[in-house]
Amino acid sequence: MKILITGGAGFIGSYLAEDLLDKGHFVIIIDNLSTGRLSNIRQIYRDDNLEVHIDTIFNKRLMKDLVKNCEQIYHLAAAVGVRFIVDNPVQTLETNIYGTEIIVQLANKYKKKIFIASTSELYGKSESLPFTEDSDRIYGSTNIRRWSYAESKAIDEFLALAYWHERKLPVVIGRLFNTIGPRQTGQYGMVVPRFVQQALLNHPITVYGDGKQSRCFAHVGDVVDGMVKLMNEEKCVGQIYNIGSDREITIFDLAKKVKKLTKSSSRIKLIPYIEAYEEGFEDMERRVPDLSKAKQDVGYKIKVPLDDMLKEIIEYYKK
Ligand code: UDP
Repeated sequence: MKILITGGAGFIGSYLAEDLLDKGHFVIIIDNLSTGRLSNIRQIYRDDNLEVHIDTIFNKRLMKDLVKNCEQIYHLAAAVGVRFIVDNPVQTLETNIYGTEIIVQLANKYKKKIFIASTSELYGKSESLPFTEDSDRIYGSTNIRRWSYAESKAIDEFLALAYWHERKLPVVIGRLFNTIGPRQTGQYGMVVPRFVQQALLNHPITVYGDGKQSRCFAHVGDVVDGMVKLMNEEKCVGQIYNIGSDREITIFDLAKKVKKLTKSSSRIKLIPYIEAYEEGFEDMERRVPDLSKAKQDVGYKIKVPLDDMLKEIIEYYKK
């Protein structure tokens, strides 16, 4: 099958491309390298079944050709990373809203099945854990740039579901929870690559706030596996799924774990949010998915435990 991945040179997109090539598909990547990197796809770059376009999803003429000539679309191109979003609010909103609008409209024109990569950030400050796909969403003020990401992704979901309900465009929505693995960069804020690099350099490990906030981390391979299963199961069309891990760890405990596994002499330093991000910054305290829907519909299961993921990432950064 010919499959288009927008954002295919990003961290998750590059693993998805590898997985689809392994399964014998022809993969077309479009990526403007804003947060993606060519080095992410170095190992598959010369594959005869791969076509790469370094271009933007705003290039409607190109997108029209790519969408027309593929059978499935995974739409991953987006502004990502809390650091990136706080620093680039215009790009965040434009990419995530107009960019998705272009892809979804073209997918509808040519009736191509589309997977929309959404986010666990969508649940916002809600405290009713674990989050189920139909949970309420709670966001802070529009002055707090962080929430623009969740809002823009919520618009993407509304748009995709609207096209499904009104125009019968086959869409599948996956809300990705924290995903980690080799090749992820800490440049845009992601905590695990930041902690690993800090620990390996024996620099202070920068825990924001009091470190009591928690997250659940899943291996990128497990997340990609879930995405592909959802995309290829007929009953998932028109549905939203949480994908990720439901094993929770506080950020302070994560820092301790990384320090131990790297045998680092780093100290763990608490940094107030105002210093780390911006005035009035709001974090999500806890973020735990209810995975029963994905388990029930496609037998979704997490395989890689946190320690193994961290060891793999540590080895990657050591090299
Ligand atoms: N975080 C941290 N130190 C860092 C980077 C992030 O303590 O150097 C915290 C951040 O405040 C959040 C958690 O780690 O509570 C996860 O952050 P990340 O940006 O990786 O993902 P998200 O907030 O989107 O879950």
